[in-house]
Amino acid sequence: MPLMKSWVASANNPDTDFPLNNLPYGVFSIGTEAPRCGVAIGDMILDVTAMEHHGHLKLADHKVFDAQSWNKVMALGQVAWTDLRTRLTEFLSAGAAAQTFVEPHLISQANAKLHMPFRVAEYTDFYAGRNHATNVGTMFRGAENALPPNWLHIPIGYNGRASSVILSGTNFHRPWGQLKSPDAAAPTFAPSKRFDIELELGAIVGQPSTFGQPVSVVEADAMIFGYVLLNDWSARDIQAWEYQPLGPFQAKATATTISPWIVTKAALEPFRISTPPREVPLLAYLEEPGPMLYDIELEIGIMPEGGSETIISRTTSAELYYSAAQQLAHHTTSGCAMTVGDLLGSGTISGAERDSRGSLLEISWGGKEPFTITGGTRSFIEDNDTLTLRGAAHGDGYHIGFGPCTGKVLPALNNPYKI
Ligand code: CA
Repeated sequence: MPLMKSWVASANNPDTDFPLNNLPYGVFSIGTEAPRCGVAIGDMILDVTAMEHHGHLKLADHKVFDAQSWNKVMALGQVAWTDLRTRLTEFLSAGAAAQTFVEPHLISQANAKLHMPFRVAEYTDFYAGRNHATNVGTMFRGAENALPPNWLHIPIGYNGRASSVILSGTNFHRPWGQLKSPDAAAPTFAPSKRFDIELELGAIVGQPSTFGQPVSVVEADAMIFGYVLLNDWSARDIQAWEYQPLGPFQAKATATTISPWIVTKAALEPFRISTPPREVPLLAYLEEPGPMLYDIELEIGIMPEGGSETIISRTTSAELYYSAAQQLAHHTTSGCAMTVGDLLGSGTISGAERDSRGSLLEISWGGKEPFTITGGTRSFIEDNDTLTLRGAAHGDGYHIGFGPCTGKVLPALNNPYKI
């Protein structure tokens, strides 16, 4: 599909993340006004809340945009999602008669503050990157036992914390936790020394499932509203001591950062691809009836305080072994009900080469092979480093961008227990 032309000039710039083909959904505010829903177009935001208020945009009997999240729109369902995208495309297309009443509701992104685009109901993180699982398994258990025996059969996951999910640009302090090196006799309580990132996609569930009722992969795909970039910040030293036998807990609970705009499933449709060939057949309930992944190019940048950024990894979401639809279907096999606003992390996305790995743990191979950045070397994150994930699906003369997913790790607070 080629670039769709808009009367918003900046949306036709080949460098923009937000051409008319994209139309991602966010929440913004101006000055002291309350946050409300908006749609990114070029370097502007269309204030759909004002459009609804003035009677130009009506999706339901009740108002859905004058809210600090897109959850009300998600709850309306697929027909309304398609209706909204069709109307927005009509409003903003080059030559649209609607320009006269739409243009007064455009706001410069430079003047807006962004907020969490949706209210996270619950958060589940998966482990669908094969290279990542192989690398971590090799480091922790040896090359012979790299992939756990269940990995090729089950989309492995754990239930995370919705309260840990924060918006891009929100800085936070290095966490404290229980640490125990293999040769130490006892654990200590100290700031994490091996603090890390995980490059992931987040899938947003826009429609609920019924308690006790599993959904198919096709039904699961239809339930997904859109995607964000997701950084699952991870304290490797806390993780190594705590994870057996129940998996990650405090190592993953400090923060999970998401990018600010929900890129809709509809915008990503031209970029659908199949998951990789299966080494062993999947059980029937997990088989994909059609392409359910998206080809999104991804990168990681690291910037020390006062320094310049170095891109340390480039990879693609084509590396994922399971799609979000497969993960969501598997999530419901027990009868577990899914909710509007649930967030699913894909798992760390790593390519086969060192410069395509999705975590510092892998790039530095557990700290044994520090890597060079502009102005220094790194094995793990140092205080005041800013880590940024970027992603885009590339079309003919345009790209569908996500906006940056960024955060700075501030020094650990003084001992929080003062002991
Ligand atoms: Ca993860």
